[in-house]
Amino acid sequence: MAVTRTFSIIKPDATRRNLTGAVAKMLEEAGLRIVASKRIRMSREQAEGFYGVHKERPFFADLVAFMISGPVVVQVLEGENAVQRNRDIMGATNPANADAGTIRKELAESIEANSVHGSDSEENAAIEIAYFFKPEEIVG
Ligand code: UDP
Repeated sequence: MAVTRTFSIIKPDATRRNLTGAVAKMLEEAGLRIVASKRIRMSREQAEGFYGVHKERPFFADLVAFMISGPVVVQVLEGENAVQRNRDIMGATNPANADAGTIRKELAESIEANSVHGSDSEENAAIEIAYFFKPEEIVG
């Protein structure tokens, strides 16, 4: 299996509860290497652009407000089959439906405040990584 990269965000509900390290530990224990990481406050424009695919959805305005409500940690993760590996350790979007041992089951608060984002395809991973990182900020 090829070593690939994916994009992750530790969301404001997790930074607020000081769970940055807890999330990172679960990612690393799942076999993912954090090859770039920075704590930022997303601007409204950044959040709206990032979630542009959801702009017609009823939860869009609330989601954008949530994502700019506090700091986030944007990360690039590397590992074998990184996109799927990260989706597996994240768990289902709604923590109530997530499997035991996943980040969302163990740490998330709600379907919106669900602690982590992870790219859903390699194509989107490349787009999302480039949205937040310059190539020289990624150290594999
Ligand atoms: N979301 C929400 N309400 C919903 C569905 C999604 O607030 O009914 C939020 C949630 O934070 C989720 C994000 O929108 O992580 C993006 O939704 P998506 O369906 O892409 O889920 P994901 O890929 O993050 O599991």
